[in-house]
Amino acid sequence: MADWLYLIIGIAVVGVLTLAGLLTAGRRKGSAPPGAGTDVIAPPSGEAETATEAPPEPAVDVATAPTLDIPESTASRLVRLRQRLSRSQGGLGKGLLALLSRERLDEDTWEAIEDTLLTADIGVAPTQALVERLRTRLRVEGGQSADPRAVLREELIELVGPDMDRRLQVSGDNGKPGVVLVVGVNGAGKTTTVGKIARILVAEDHSVTLGAADTFRAAAVDQLATWGDRVGVEVVRGPEGGDPASVAFEAVRLGIEQGIDTVLVDTAGRLQNKAGLMDELGKIKRVIEKQAAVTEVLLVLDATTGQNGLIQARVFSEIVDVTGIVLTKLDGSAKGGIVVQVQRELGVPVKLVGLGEGPDDMAPFDAAAFVDALLG
Ligand code: GDP
Repeated sequence: MADWLYLIIGIAVVGVLTLAGLLTAGRRKGSAPPGAGTDVIAPPSGEAETATEAPPEPAVDVATAPTLDIPESTASRLVRLRQRLSRSQGGLGKGLLALLSRERLDEDTWEAIEDTLLTADIGVAPTQALVERLRTRLRVEGGQSADPRAVLREELIELVGPDMDRRLQVSGDNGKPGVVLVVGVNGAGKTTTVGKIARILVAEDHSVTLGAADTFRAAAVDQLATWGDRVGVEVVRGPEGGDPASVAFEAVRLGIEQGIDTVLVDTAGRLQNKAGLMDELGKIKRVIEKQAAVTEVLLVLDATTGQNGLIQARVFSEIVDVTGIVLTKLDGSAKGGIVVQVQRELGVPVKLVGLGEGPDDMAPFDAAAFVDALLG
């Protein structure tokens, strides 16, 4: 009798324990993060508990993906920014056209034309050359019958340089990244330019890494980090006041390791100490070139600074071999003629223009499009 009782109690205990075990297992499975049970991310046996507690990986992507910007395509920004260029530079084109369309092109009119060109920062020598060309052509091609607009358009395009190679060299050789060094005085729009170029490249499906080598300005580093975060681009930064060259080195090293297409390096621009700046930029270039060639050195110039900007440009071109110019803040200056002057000064083309503070307010520079915007 007692044996039967023990047997029934035993069976009941085993049954209850089995049921409890099944329930616990079921609940654990239900609370597992999505994907945690898949073979791909499940750790080897024995670590099952850790897997359950690990942060759900897919959730990280889901959390960051929606915050990424989709930068505007180059084609669409060209149309939009051309209107902005027309607004800021249109006065020059309209002024010239009004003067050239006068019935009699007398000396006073030619003088007024010259003044208009000089006011737009085209520079003395290019202005005189242009006026000479216009005078000859409008005389030879016959006052009334010549179309002053067509002649002016052709001559302006010629002056701006339709045949200059304005492509950005953003690709490297032998599977290495292209390295773009961005230089210029503080305030010219350097950091903004690095951020904007990153967006242009991302819009064209390039992979990009940024190097925040302006280590002396914490704000510049933070600003660059924000630009990078918005488009999912990694930003290499060092300790505040640290060696800018080591940041540049690390950015390029990472770029090579990760098979990145282009590494953009922001630099410091303290012109007060030319020797110091020369040492710093020289060292940055040297350490980069231990790993990969610098494919482009872009000088950022603020279009609103006129002659001052030109003096800065000269100093920088003595320090590094500038290969292209980025003219910023053209939206806030009617002096678009600076394009002509700075290209002559440095012998390198304007490759990009900044036309506003918005993240996609930068476009590749094109001579004909620029002149057409000028003439409205
Ligand atoms: P940095 O000191 O050379 O790195 O200059 P920043 O990139 O910090 O830019 C200085 C200021 O110029 C910022 O307020 C930018 O928003 C502004 N800026 C840069 N590019 C342009 C542009 O093309 N147009 C306008 N309107 N502002 C610009």
